[in-house]
Amino acid sequence: MHDLVVVGAGPAGSRLARRFAEDGADVVVLERGEVGVPLACSGHVSGDVWEFLPEDARSELVGNEIRGARFHVGDSSYEFYKDETVSYAIDRVGMDRVLADEARAAGARLRTETPVTSVEEDDDGVAVYTDDGETYDARLVAGCDGPRSTVRDELSLPEPDELLQGVLGFADEGEANADALVDVYVDIPDFFGWRIPRGDCVEYGAASSGSPRDRLEEASGVDLRSFDRVCAGQIPIGPPSRTTTDRGFLVGDAAAQTKPFTGGGIVYGMTAADAAARVIDLNAPHLDAYERAWRDELGRDIRLGQIIRKAYALPRPVQRAGMRAFQGEINVHMDRPTTLFNRSTARRVFRNVFGV
Ligand SMILES: Cc1cc2nc3c(=O)[nH]c(=O)nc-3n(C[C@H](O)[C@H](O)[C@H](O)COP(=O)(O)OP(=O)(O)OC[C@H]3O[C@@H](n4cnc5c(N)ncnc54)[C@H](O)[C@@H]3O)c2cc1C
Repeated sequence: MHDLVVVGAGPAGSRLARRFAEDGADVVVLERGEVGVPLACSGHVSGDVWEFLPEDARSELVGNEIRGARFHVGDSSYEFYKDETVSYAIDRVGMDRVLADEARAAGARLRTETPVTSVEEDDDGVAVYTDDGETYDARLVAGCDGPRSTVRDELSLPEPDELLQGVLGFADEGEANADALVDVYVDIPDFFGWRIPRGDCVEYGAASSGSPRDRLEEASGVDLRSFDRVCAGQIPIGPPSRTTTDRGFLVGDAAAQTKPFTGGGIVYGMTAADAAARVIDLNAPHLDAYERAWRDELGRDIRLGQIIRKAYALPRPVQRAGMRAFQGEINVHMDRPTTLFNRSTARRVFRNVFGV
């Protein structure tokens, strides 16, 4: 019997497998395809991501360094920036491969092209079934299998609040490929569109509850149908009320551990994986401890992110007034909206509103 079967070798699964394997656990990772493909992510991340990656990966993975964002509301635009790098456009496929290599190096066994089809749980452990007819018995199973999690369904755990549709495409814009600002188009129902200079190309994308391609064209004039490289994926928003059973737990997109106002989940998923490795004792697994630990760590920022997201649905004049008040040099961490409340932001809002 294995200690832990991890389903899915995305960032959450590989990080989790690595952390448990480092502690000496017998860990098997089951991945339905190849690691990192197909791509369905912008790979736009804060510098916190480097805490989860080896030092030498940085130079290989970074495509472009970003210093801020230009928000578009109708014909008006508002800039938010810093005098230093605030985020990175990274090679997402490359990052997944590095993380999987780290898990393997720690002793986890990775089986690719091995889709999990069902999971059975009893008092002593779990049986995880794959489509090649194999059964993996383990003390615990971790569902790190993304927004449409099979493990979540098999364990009868509740769904995230929402599942948005995301689409993105790539174009060569010459020197503009290395711009320092991302563009954000807020005139998209439910969510937003974006333009990310990636260094070797520019990415346009959007997410919405339906037809993100059409919504992006309406908001920015960009028609992804004319692009050669386009891909799509789903973004879960709003964690389910429960992410654990007696013998199973969810990590990453399977648990909707994402930022509700951007959909970003790379750093949150790995943060939750670390919380799991810290509090779950494989000899006496009480998964309630994990449920509490990840909500303690991420819950406040997710709740605040849900409030910020409501601003996308405000009437345009209110959005413009808000952007005018906050625009300028920012001192906010993109993964932690709680950092919005600081003295320098308050001073700038005062200056922007009262002109003093
Ligand atoms: C359009 C778009 C843009 C995004 N941009 C960003 C961004 O810029 N920054 C950011 O932080 N986040 C972004 N995200 C979100 C980010 O991609 C996810 O939060 C992140 O990938 C979650 O990691 P994960 O390991 O939980 O799941 P995933 O990365 O989805 O990995 C899940 C893995 O499980 C495997 N799997 C699924 N089902 C099974 C099964 N039955 N058996 C075995 N294996 C299975 C999959 O093949 C996959 O490898 C974006 C998402 C989309 C859709």
